[in-house]
Amino acid sequence: MTYLITNNKADCTACGACAQICGHQAISMEYDNEAFAYPVIDKDKCIDCGACVKVCPLNEEDRHPGEIEFKPLRVFGGSHKDDEVLINSTSGGAFTAFCQAWSEQGDYVIYGAFADGLDVRHVRLTSIDDLKKICKSKYRQSEIGTCFKSVRQDLVKGRKVLFSGTPCHIGGLISFLKNIDRSNLLTIEVICEGVPSPLFIEKMSKGIFGESASDLEGLDYRCKKKSFGSPISWDFQMMQASFRSRPSWTRDRWFNPFWNVWLKHLMSRPSCYDCRYACPKRVADVTLGDLWGVHLYCPDLYNMNKGASLVICNSEKGAEWLEKAMPALNGHDLNPQDALRYQGPLRKKVQKNPNREAFMADLMNEDSTYDKLVEKWYDKPSLKLIISKYVWGNRNKVWLWNFLRHFKINYRIR
Ligand SMILES: Cc1cc2nc3c(=O)[nH]c(=O)nc-3n(C[C@H](O)[C@H](O)[C@H](O)COP(=O)(O)OP(=O)(O)OC[C@H]3O[C@@H](n4cnc5c(N)ncnc54)[C@H](O)[C@@H]3O)c2cc1C
Repeated sequence: MTYLITNNKADCTACGACAQICGHQAISMEYDNEAFAYPVIDKDKCIDCGACVKVCPLNEEDRHPGEIEFKPLRVFGGSHKDDEVLINSTSGGAFTAFCQAWSEQGDYVIYGAFADGLDVRHVRLTSIDDLKKICKSKYRQSEIGTCFKSVRQDLVKGRKVLFSGTPCHIGGLISFLKNIDRSNLLTIEVICEGVPSPLFIEKMSKGIFGESASDLEGLDYRCKKKSFGSPISWDFQMMQASFRSRPSWTRDRWFNPFWNVWLKHLMSRPSCYDCRYACPKRVADVTLGDLWGVHLYCPDLYNMNKGASLVICNSEKGAEWLEKAMPALNGHDLNPQDALRYQGPLRKKVQKNPNREAFMADLMNEDSTYDKLVEKWYDKPSLKLIISKYVWGNRNKVWLWNFLRHFKINYRIR
């Protein structure tokens, strides 16, 4: 059911299809006190036509009744051949390879998430030279604005549209384009474990950077900064804040309260705990993710910790475009069941933490500073975890695997 009828926050992903379909501009997306956006209807402008309810992708019957088999057309693991692209990508840069192939045809446009300081919104690109603007994962919900309308206009004019986003963005777009010919549209979704409340990052920014927060130029959630002898470090998932007039700040995954708190599912959007898209049946032509578990089931693709992508082709169109993107990629096909095993969001929705409401109350409380939040909610890494990540980490495991393989010794990484 749709939020427009139930008023239940779990029934809205903020795809914005309802606001964009309304011919009377009666719906605006407004932020609640957790900083998540929801549609608000202006009763004076509304003529009760019902278009907003009809377009809501969550208004359909449950998309995923019962058990569904994971049956993609093709599953590929690998990375972009260009090191510069890898540094500027979160995983293995497969997204860039698709965009490069897409841009080789005429009259194309590309849509994706762009970071504007700490804010994130979808933008439309007409030049591949601007691609860097939308590369890299921003772990915050990207505002769609009026992009669906603009995609519709592009398709009607015969342009080729590549649209990327989270699965709920794609679900909203497809629903919005119900009566439009989509043969010129390629959809690429990122595997998504949910979106966190932006309030945390804002509080963190003020708490750590103080007055310098206003000097913040950008936030890279997963910077591949050089670490421990590795030229690029993908699996440390370092966060980097860069400033206009002071040196940058970095913190890696295990010592960063943001990752710890978010991945305990204390601050996701309510609809993420009831995500209709977190299942083996995918909504986009192509699904992209990190090649998690790479060191366990395909260590040859670990790529010296420079990053590796998982690419899942869900439609003929997706498989056709992977073939066209292939000249820019190194890698090989994978067993779909292996990929599925290491990707929770492809199997099931995330479990809401029973302490979510208590955490969110603290987060929204103005007297609760960032330091107080961290003291109460952040679990410092255990010594065992530190050793397993920094001493006996994936990089060393794969190095040993390569070394033994050189001597034809078969060693299975655990
Ligand atoms: C909120 C979020 C949660 C994710 N969770 C997982 C996960 O649990 N497991 C996993 O394997 N991968 C996850 N990913 C995907 C992963 O981080 C990479 O984005 C993906 O592998 C593509 O990487 P790349 O190297 O090919 O390209 P990159 O250049 O790194 O990726 C760019 C792509 O990400 C899109 N994007 C970036 N930020 C956003 C945003 N805020 N909203 C919508 N789209 C965005 C861009 O439009 C573009 O399509 C998540 C991404 C996001 C944004």
